[in-house]
Amino acid sequence: MNSRRNFLQKITASAFGIPVLTAMNERPSGILNEVPYEGPMLKVAILGLGSYGNRVAEAMQSCSMAKVTGVISGTPSKIKDWQAKYNIPDKNCYNYENFDNIKNNPDIDAVYIITPNALHKDQAIRVAKAGKHVICEKPMSINAKDGQEMIDACKKANVKLLVGYRMHFEAKTLEILRMRNAGDFGKVLFFQGLCGFRIGDPNQWRLNKALSGGGAMMDIGIYAVNGSRYMIGEDPIWVTAQETKTDPVKFKEGIDETIQFQFGFPGGAVASCLSTYQMSNLDRFFLNGEKGFAEMQPSTGYGPIKARTNKGELTNPHITHQTTQMDEMAAIILQGKKAPVPVDGEEGLKDLKIIDAIFLAVKTGKKVELKL
Ligand code: NAD
Repeated sequence: MNSRRNFLQKITASAFGIPVLTAMNERPSGILNEVPYEGPMLKVAILGLGSYGNRVAEAMQSCSMAKVTGVISGTPSKIKDWQAKYNIPDKNCYNYENFDNIKNNPDIDAVYIITPNALHKDQAIRVAKAGKHVICEKPMSINAKDGQEMIDACKKANVKLLVGYRMHFEAKTLEILRMRNAGDFGKVLFFQGLCGFRIGDPNQWRLNKALSGGGAMMDIGIYAVNGSRYMIGEDPIWVTAQETKTDPVKFKEGIDETIQFQFGFPGGAVASCLSTYQMSNLDRFFLNGEKGFAEMQPSTGYGPIKARTNKGELTNPHITHQTTQMDEMAAIILQGKKAPVPVDGEEGLKDLKIIDAIFLAVKTGKKVELKL
């Protein structure tokens, strides 16, 4: 309950223009009195009622500023279950053929796309054309070209495009970024990101290039790509990468099993990362500077995140990531709030450009220069 209160205060504080990076690290009772939020809710339809869609909807039950009001699915039985669980009327239920009709539905402000990666682009463009805000899971799409098309479509339709980077709102992550900005670690020199798990069922969409756009890199390696950028606080200017494949039957052409990659940053820092579908318990970030360090393990899982720095263990309370994310995204859409670390289409596009470059570096064996 206490952490929930802290969060409400953070939201209230940020609604009044107090930057989250500051508010999160002040004493919760020191900013404003606890005022329950009574403004408009962001009305969200979930598109894709799979494993992560279920997790998001569960978490949204604790949101103060966002709620699930509609569903888009190809499976009528799932729609029925969700209707019962989340009290969704028939008029807010759609399938993949007719969901353009959300255009005329005032009960839906935004659609959260939680389908296989390769479907994101077309679905996002359809949502934008229907005049609704787009929230899209990571990776935003399967390459930079598609990502750019999504951005263009959302701009044209004058709707927001946000990417489900839940770690950009996570308290311990933000505390580390605050310490880095305050100079606690000195000049940042090095980041290491290790992201992976052993993938099961060989027949799942994640191992089908047409649906996934790639293997571990698109799915889990992207956390190290994105994490390198927010932990160091700069965008990389070059990348090198090497692929290893121990099981070419399970990991077919175009599905990367393990990729090691390295970045160089304009300030002189370097990063060394690992993305894999073949090793368990790989969820670790390490940031090193001239004066100190930060270590996170787990670093991007559903939490609680565990983090320590040269000054000691971080104790920021755990709040379900997707609850925080969706309340913060509601504040971005409804109040024009600024995210502590960007979650917009441009941010998603940068990661796609880097992933395109990683694949190119693997293919050519050469260092690839980046201009983000
Ligand atoms: P999932 O397989 O559990 O669910 C995918 C859903 O898409 C299912 O309901 C499926 O029926 C539907 N679908 C629609 N068209 C489909 C098609 N042609 N083929 C297969 N399924 C189709 O997958 P998931 O784990 O929920 O992942 C969905 C998205 O969410 C992915 O982009 C993934 O990267 C992202 N994700 C993000 C996080 C996070 O922490 N941010 C975690 C897990 C997944």
